[in-house]
Amino acid sequence: MNLKITCIPGDGIGPEIIAEAKKVLDTVADKYGHTIQYTDILMGGASIDAYGVPLTDEAIETARAADAVLMGSIGGDTTTSPWYKLPPNLRPEAGLLAIRKALNLFANLRPAVLYSELRGACPLKEEISAAGFDMLIMRELTGGLYFGERKTVEENGVRKAVDTLVYDENEIRRIAVKGFDIAMKRRKKVTSVDKANVLDSSRLWRSVVEQVAKDYPEVALEHMLVDNCAMQLVKDPAQFDVILTENMFGDILSDEASMVTGSIGMLASASLNDTKFGLYEPSHGSAPDIAGRDIANPIATVLSAAMMLRYSFDLDREADAVEEAVRQVLKDGYRTGDIMSEGCTRTGCRQMGDLLAERIKQQ
Ligand code: NAD
Repeated sequence: MNLKITCIPGDGIGPEIIAEAKKVLDTVADKYGHTIQYTDILMGGASIDAYGVPLTDEAIETARAADAVLMGSIGGDTTTSPWYKLPPNLRPEAGLLAIRKALNLFANLRPAVLYSELRGACPLKEEISAAGFDMLIMRELTGGLYFGERKTVEENGVRKAVDTLVYDENEIRRIAVKGFDIAMKRRKKVTSVDKANVLDSSRLWRSVVEQVAKDYPEVALEHMLVDNCAMQLVKDPAQFDVILTENMFGDILSDEASMVTGSIGMLASASLNDTKFGLYEPSHGSAPDIAGRDIANPIATVLSAAMMLRYSFDLDREADAVEEAVRQVLKDGYRTGDIMSEGCTRTGCRQMGDLLAERIKQQ
């Protein structure tokens, strides 16, 4: 297979972690007989420095012409970098919002996995973390409360603010289909999270999800109220496979799920549209405090590349190989500084990439 991938190295540690993800992808391609055609584009601070804007139209067109986009991270130190003296629409993060919009990326996927070797970093009680967990939060990204009509008015001397939570059934259906498709590649369980005891938008959500579920008889569907889900994530996270939810609930629950893993350098993510196209990036930022020192953890980016193999290219065996390499390297006791613990061997960013590539070759 020929994979056309646009890379956005970005700012801070971005170029370092993307280099290691490419190393891993090239090793996979060699081993399994694929070719990869990379094209790099600038976004964020790097694009501001070169072109005066965080994303050019040409860069968008290059990304659109690829099968998938692999991104490092963008942005600088928000208190000292001159990028943050610019108007908001010219700052680094505006590039990310623009590319998501241009490519219609409406489904956000955030896996939260607790590796047994990193159990010590999990803030939950040992009897809970001992069971481990491996869940994926599927969040609707372009509708709901953050995109509905809003206003602040003054009535009889009292200020009043209104935000509107709107979903139509087509918006719900397309994210539900993505959620069930992805559950089919995992443990075949969907927990749809809503607030159907109060909100009309949630009652519509629930009924459309139930309709979609009929096309996936192998997938077990359950409904859970968002307040209960927030509790269950810290009480019994092992029960979850795919959590399917709307924009604001997903925003909050995905951060909660990330934090219970305890390891920011390990968290991958993806944003998909209704084709196979996706943008894959680590959940963390550009870590300007450690940029250029070869100490960043590249694993979140490498795991994002594995998601790209699985969801954009349907290369499940290759994605498994990358995820297995991560498990082996952790089992062999190698750690970057952010996940270091006593008795382990400290590695830099490049060495971690080398170790992962070696493990893939040896499998
Ligand atoms: P951050 O995620 O960059 O860093 C938070 C802390 O985690 C820092 O101490 C950092 O050193 C550490 N860290 C993060 N990733 C790491 C890794 N791979 N290996 C080892 N340590 C790691 O968050 P921040 O400091 O709040 O933001 C820095 C910049 O990143 C800001 O400009 C912010 O806007 C941007 N940002 C970008 C994205 C994105 O590109 N999608 C996401 C979040 C933040």
